[in-house]
Amino acid sequence: MVDNVQEFKLREDSELRFAVGDEEDVVLELIEGYAEMFGTEITPNKKYTFPPSSRVAIYTYTQATIELFGKVSSHYVADDTPMVFYVNIHAAIEEVRQAREEQAMQSGYGKPKGPKVLLVGPSDVGKSTLSRILCNYSVRQGRCPVFVDLDVGQNNISVPGTIGALIVDKTADIIDGFDRTNALVYNFGHTSPGGSIGLYKAMMKQLAASMKTPQFESNSDALIGGMIINTCGWVNDAGYECIKSAAESFEVDIVIVIDHERLYSDLSRDLPEFVRLLKCPKSGGVEKRDSEFRGKTRTANVHSYFYGTKSQQVFPFNIVLQFNDIKLFRIGTEKLPDSCLPFGMEEEDPDTRVVEMTPSTDILHHLFAISHSNIVEDICKSAVCGFVLVKEIDMEQQKMTVLSVRTTLPSTNLVFMNISHLDDHV
Ligand code: ATP
Repeated sequence: MVDNVQEFKLREDSELRFAVGDEEDVVLELIEGYAEMFGTEITPNKKYTFPPSSRVAIYTYTQATIELFGKVSSHYVADDTPMVFYVNIHAAIEEVRQAREEQAMQSGYGKPKGPKVLLVGPSDVGKSTLSRILCNYSVRQGRCPVFVDLDVGQNNISVPGTIGALIVDKTADIIDGFDRTNALVYNFGHTSPGGSIGLYKAMMKQLAASMKTPQFESNSDALIGGMIINTCGWVNDAGYECIKSAAESFEVDIVIVIDHERLYSDLSRDLPEFVRLLKCPKSGGVEKRDSEFRGKTRTANVHSYFYGTKSQQVFPFNIVLQFNDIKLFRIGTEKLPDSCLPFGMEEEDPDTRVVEMTPSTDILHHLFAISHSNIVEDICKSAVCGFVLVKEIDMEQQKMTVLSVRTTLPSTNLVFMNISHLDDHV
């Protein structure tokens, strides 16, 4: 560990990379010059407090003097970064937007639509970071892109086990990331697509469909902003099929493959010709995170859903729900053997079938998604309007206590998530 105040002088096109230890915060201040973090400009002479386990890169196009206060577990200045490559990708996306605006103006027909960009690659190559950079640069260009996150393990929009979309109209906060207030979120319920490939593909289709509705398409700014779509790091076997399925569902125009030759080659064979494929280098600053670290990040994500962050605290409620007043569901069942079906009858897709659950102690410490829908058949197709965590269950009194960010639930249909979390807040 390195202690106390340290000053760093960054030259043009270099970045300060550091990792915060497990326990204490680290404070950063830009003393002089220009710097940004993952595309968000840093305000000079403002103190930014990074929580434990943060991994950070502060980049400058010109020069900067930066001070760090507190213990970091590692730090160094790197002169070799792919930031110029990334800014060129941004410029290429912006060119497509402008060309489509011109086309629409000349033809006088239809609203111009920005490109849909899919970012793919193995785990820990910086897909989420590049998504954030591209969204931030787009906003700084005066655009409003839609950020879509299909990564159910390390989701940047909502809790793990979900996929979602967000219209980005301001740059990400240096510490808290994008404003998630108006996110559109779907519950998948597992931290890997492998939890149910069929359901994962169905959810991606559903999310994509909800962004083709007249209501969504009436937002011309978001339409021309296009989409920046982040994916999971599973690139083999069924993971590869999910990538193709994402490209198809969202009808993407551009696919950026980060640091994976074979994936690039496979996609150039399998994707339609009109899809533009780009190879992109990985930043040397992105390091492998082990499964323990990933687990901790997921826990921190759920914690921040219920309790907020240091700068935007949330004070959740413990509410008691009588079993009689709510309905619990799970999505997905075992496939029935054909012999169990009446002759000529086809089984409803078992991956997306909604089944009512009987409350039991098995659901203790599990997350449940609050469905927007009151119609059982639509639960799988509907976005969710929040989450609760089961904290206590009383089978005798037929009730349970849940942690909730609202005093009353907007719907009584709760959908099981295969994600448990221990609420250790006192
Ligand atoms: P996964 O698919 O496994 O979720 P990913 O490919 O999306 O991973 P990121 O989440 O973007 O990878 O990056 C992994 C970690 O590396 C993050 O904690 C991020 O803050 C950090 N990071 C990204 N770029 C840099 C950099 N240039 N220097 C230091 N750390 C970085």
